[in-house]
Amino acid sequence: MAALWRGRHRWKRTNCLHVLTRNLTGKYDYDLVVIGGGSGGLACSKEAAQLGQKVAVLDHVEPSVKGTKWGLGGTCVNVGCIPKKLMHQAALLGTAVKDAKKFGWQISEPICHDWSTMADAVQNHVRSLNWGHRVQLQDKKVKYLNIKGSLLDEHTVKGLTKAGKETILTAKNIVIATGGRPKYPTNIPGAMEHGITSDDIFWLKKSPGKTLVVGASYVALECAGFLTGIGLDTTVMVRSIALRGFDQQMAGLVTDYMEAYGTKFAWQCVPKRVDKLSSGVLQVTWMDNNTGNEHKDTYDSVLWAVGRAPETKALGLDKLGVQLDKETGKIVVGADESTSVPNIYAFGDIGEGRPELTPTAIKAGKLLARRLARHSAELMNYDSVPTTVFTPLEYGCVGLSEEEAEKRLGKDGIEVYHAFYKPLEFTVAERDASQCYLKVICERDGDQKILGLHFTGPNAGEVTQGFALAFQCGATYSHLLQTVGIHPTCAEELTKVNITKRSGLDATVTGC
Ligand SMILES: Cc1cc2nc3c(=O)[nH]c(=O)nc-3n(C[C@H](O)[C@H](O)[C@H](O)COP(=O)(O)OP(=O)(O)OC[C@H]3O[C@@H](n4cnc5c(N)ncnc54)[C@H](O)[C@@H]3O)c2cc1C
Repeated sequence: MAALWRGRHRWKRTNCLHVLTRNLTGKYDYDLVVIGGGSGGLACSKEAAQLGQKVAVLDHVEPSVKGTKWGLGGTCVNVGCIPKKLMHQAALLGTAVKDAKKFGWQISEPICHDWSTMADAVQNHVRSLNWGHRVQLQDKKVKYLNIKGSLLDEHTVKGLTKAGKETILTAKNIVIATGGRPKYPTNIPGAMEHGITSDDIFWLKKSPGKTLVVGASYVALECAGFLTGIGLDTTVMVRSIALRGFDQQMAGLVTDYMEAYGTKFAWQCVPKRVDKLSSGVLQVTWMDNNTGNEHKDTYDSVLWAVGRAPETKALGLDKLGVQLDKETGKIVVGADESTSVPNIYAFGDIGEGRPELTPTAIKAGKLLARRLARHSAELMNYDSVPTTVFTPLEYGCVGLSEEEAEKRLGKDGIEVYHAFYKPLEFTVAERDASQCYLKVICERDGDQKILGLHFTGPNAGEVTQGFALAFQCGATYSHLLQTVGIHPTCAEELTKVNITKRSGLDATVTGC
């Protein structure tokens, strides 16, 4: 009855709206409506459909300030992990070409990079993924609606097409997985008019040219890294520290390597204004907080990487009383991804306190779908999530930073094993390996359980992924030493690490 009443009430309210075919004998149109077709939303909707639920997923992309737009799949596929890793690969290949000469390849100079060839190839791959996602949804019988969703009540979603046509959907449960978007600073004249963000950089038709990247998050450093790697004059402007939240010794190695690689850093500097000169170049005025002096330089592009804002504005959450975190604006969620309103769930980048990573969004989405379909009660384990920063020298880690381990157990409660090693590939190529380093942070007592594992070097993501399994299983320092290495690899150095920081001995690995 309640549903029928809700149905009539809605009809009355929206009698000029297009209403999706409803099964009026059923209580709701769908078992599950997911708002947001990114990493998390797609995984959640497909899993639910496979478990027999009737599912719809809504995805809508608001063009960036610069007008960049893209297809189904969310941040990771279109403006995140995928294009970023491919452009990182483009940069790594540049270094490989230089190494290749030492290995006997005869390559005629000059070697130059063509942005539009790279961008076309990357964009074509992304489009193929957009298409793949649509096909998968169809195959798995998930109804895909390219509309912008907002909530009317805990069982009702209003969808709006680009043409302004409204659609009402009802569901037993509603899941919000709308992610976030890059922020622009609000207090810097010219920032928004003349700047771009990570929402634009991967879709530029022509090279960004000489670029100023403002910010020192992993997104900032990764973008600056690949821009430098493909030969562009690139500067990173850092207000305070790089890679906040990561182990700061490792962050220092990452930025030291980047400086040696050619990326310029303006440390402790803050931009004041951006002006477009008559020649078309952008003049940036900034303050050096160390000296108090003002500086100016010109750039072809200014890329703001100063954080991301949750996509909650259009959802109408305030009217429903869905609680948001006052500081971050993200949705406050429980361990089961529930919000403060029954039947409404949220996860992925939009969830307060959740890691902003694709694999956690995917896993959390699948587990939520299983719980909603009463298939399992398993909760997402957000501990021990490994990650990698794809800077020119990659950095992978799992577990605690040294600072955090020290905070929790005290300096005397931890033992840090570390090594500076030289990847074999760097020897013939005569590459500097000063920043290739690893450290394993362990409890000092008992079995010396591993608390954190950190690695800079080639293929850090691949290395860290393997050790993350051991970490998840509660590996100890002796497990590490019992592990037989694979020779000759960089990862094997982790199985040999034996110098403690406390000893003060030279941690440079010698011999093979
Ligand atoms: C430059 C960059 C590089 C990254 N690199 C990595 C990496 O290497 N590894 C990694 O793990 N993570 C990486 N990330 C993070 C990763 O992309 C995100 O953590 C992940 O995409 C979050 O997934 P999500 O499902 O929560 O949200 P999203 O993927 O952002 O998806 C949300 C979707 O909802 C849509 N939407 C928003 N509002 C509405 C609405 N009202 N109605 C309908 N649809 C709506 C959005 O348009 C979007 O399509 C990177 C991010 C960036 C920006």
